[in-house]
Amino acid sequence: MGAKENLTYGPPIPILIPCRPMAEIEQKCTILLIEDEQDFAMGLRDAFEFEGYELTSASSGEAGIATAADLHPDLIILDLMLPGMNGYQVCEQIRRRDKVVPILILSARSQESDIIRGLEAGADDYVTKPFSIGELLARVRTIFRRVSVSQMKPREKIEIGDVTVDVESQTAQVNGKPVSFGFYEIAMLQLLHENRGTPVSRDDILDTVWGIDANPTNRTIDNFILKLRRKLEPNPAAPKYILTVYGQGYKLV
Ligand code: CA
Repeated sequence: MGAKENLTYGPPIPILIPCRPMAEIEQKCTILLIEDEQDFAMGLRDAFEFEGYELTSASSGEAGIATAADLHPDLIILDLMLPGMNGYQVCEQIRRRDKVVPILILSARSQESDIIRGLEAGADDYVTKPFSIGELLARVRTIFRRVSVSQMKPREKIEIGDVTVDVESQTAQVNGKPVSFGFYEIAMLQLLHENRGTPVSRDDILDTVWGIDANPTNRTIDNFILKLRRKLEPNPAAPKYILTVYGQGYKLV
């Protein structure tokens, strides 16, 4: 934070390079927040701008979908409880147009079924309300860190049964149909693939994929495994490739 903050003191420096379109090659920084509670949205904007991100907010699902199409944000933070179109529908609509942008959902509902529904609608991660700004910022930092790490990795393919997952495009063909993966799903697959045949503990998955400053639970891991199985396993209820090793974790075979 320090150096970046110091830049804001003194006379304004003429901005020669706008954030867009240079953001394509510079550090990714634009966040779209879709949230109808204005006070909450303003509070988040202050916190994110202080951290050096650019945050644009939309107060309805419809406005959020339109802004996402115009702005091409690097990350979308989406509240599930919105007037009119709900967050799940918004998530699905955005995903139809953009398979890759990370979507983090905010949910007052901590029930697992709501979280799974959000992940199935195409979200990559979730934070349940109430949460601290610090926790949300940590999640966002983790997302951007993962995005930049995965962009530096060479093109990689992961074979799972008859399916080949293309890590760079985050896609695979499953039974002739294109399937896309969120970046956490890809990061988990990469980790399991690197340790193929050996169980990886939930703690190791948390440390490697999420990092120590984010704070998801083991349940988060289980939800992502469920999501991967639904996409990759012929019968997700009886997995052949992504196995649970009792007391040890998960193993890719
Ligand atoms: Ca709301």
